[in-house]
Amino acid sequence: MTKVLYVEDNDDNVYMLKMRFELAGGFEFLSAEDGEVGCAKARAELPDIILMDLDLPVIDGWEVTRLLKNGATTQHIPIIALTAHAMAGSREQALAAGCDEFDTKPMISTGPCKKSISCLLDASVADGSATLRCDAGSG
Ligand code: MN
Repeated sequence: MTKVLYVEDNDDNVYMLKMRFELAGGFEFLSAEDGEVGCAKARAELPDIILMDLDLPVIDGWEVTRLLKNGATTQHIPIIALTAHAMAGSREQALAAGCDEFDTKPMISTGPCKKSISCLLDASVADGSATLRCDAGSG
């Protein structure tokens, strides 16, 4: 089972992605509704990948990413940043904050991390084990 943590304050987005992962099978899907909970869950659950909304209550996604990437037990976890309003330089900013990949919402259908996510989903379907490596900068 690949453990996915989605840190997102929009219930519709959480629901949509949860469905997606459940349909694919082979995933344990966790979610957190704000940055503080997301940070705590990441440390407690040590997910295989984190999908991070950047615009979050309590602690924003940038700061959560920095905290996790500075933590010995969480720094290896790939983080894909997600934002609804991408602006010029957003991707560079996200990568500079320590994110491994960046995408705009709604995700999966478009964008540079489509490959990472599809690859993850396809892998689970193909062999049921969904081993994931989100290669930094693979586009
Ligand atoms: Mn948000």
